[in-house]
Amino acid sequence: MTMMRRNAIRLFLAAAVTVLALAVHARGGGQDTPPDSASPQPPRSLRLYVMDCGTLHIADMGRFGLKKEEVSTTDLSVACFLVVHPKGTLLWDTGAIPDAAWKPTGSPTTQHVVLSDSQERDVTMIKSLTAQLAELGYSPTDITYLALSHYHYDHTANANEFARATWLVRQVERDAMFGEKPPGTTQPSTYSALRDSKTLILKTDEYDVFGDGTVVIKSAPGHTPGHQVLYLKLAKTGGVLLSGDLYHYPEERALDRVPTFDFSQEQTRATRVAIDAFLKKSGSQLWIQHDFNGNAKLKKSPNFYD
Ligand SMILES: [Zn+2]
Repeated sequence: MTMMRRNAIRLFLAAAVTVLALAVHARGGGQDTPPDSASPQPPRSLRLYVMDCGTLHIADMGRFGLKKEEVSTTDLSVACFLVVHPKGTLLWDTGAIPDAAWKPTGSPTTQHVVLSDSQERDVTMIKSLTAQLAELGYSPTDITYLALSHYHYDHTANANEFARATWLVRQVERDAMFGEKPPGTTQPSTYSALRDSKTLILKTDEYDVFGDGTVVIKSAPGHTPGHQVLYLKLAKTGGVLLSGDLYHYPEERALDRVPTFDFSQEQTRATRVAIDAFLKKSGSQLWIQHDFNGNAKLKKSPNFYD
């Protein structure tokens, strides 16, 4: 064997050892912790991961008080968000299609949903939520808190997977979810396990999840009785407000339209005024979760905002 070959092999071995060491480090595995059961080390400062939970195709624009000609696209993005704080994790919304209901192929596949009130929807999926979490080293049982912006099916699909997290919800929302007759546009089977979750009922307009003002759930009723939005104070990005379904299309905001299926259109209008004032005062950006073009521009997990 020539010297050069031997050096090349040595170099290859050194590189392999480095890759292995990095892999163990990235998973946060210590020497006495098997890597598979180890969740990632908490970061020093707040991170926000944007996850792809599909694209929802809308046939009836009238429900949003809009005409097809008034919007740049009728498609809606479905986003899920993982917030990672030094003190724990919060999952915000869980998608439209349960991971258990389909198999990712690597290419877009269209899933058909029939809702509790017989409405039907098509959603194009590429990645499962649990696979996106696993890519970061998290399993559903690692998640500290679960919060849904509201109970509609396109936000609850994987809620049952996170029944071991502490659920952050308002009483009126929980009451509607588990009432005798499920509200419209829901899939109660996707969140039924939350009935027995450790639950924290949010009673104040603002709930500071980790106690340092960086992750705050704000009451934003109207779309549903206990609809809420999420404010994040990120060190580099600045203030970001995740809209829930306060708006779906940016044109709803520009043209002042309110969906016809809101629980209370009057309440939605009042909430929009209050949130506009908050955005101005805090200098925050509003991220409309369902805004297809806006969402397309966001960095996706495993990249993150900090
Ligand atoms: Zn929605």
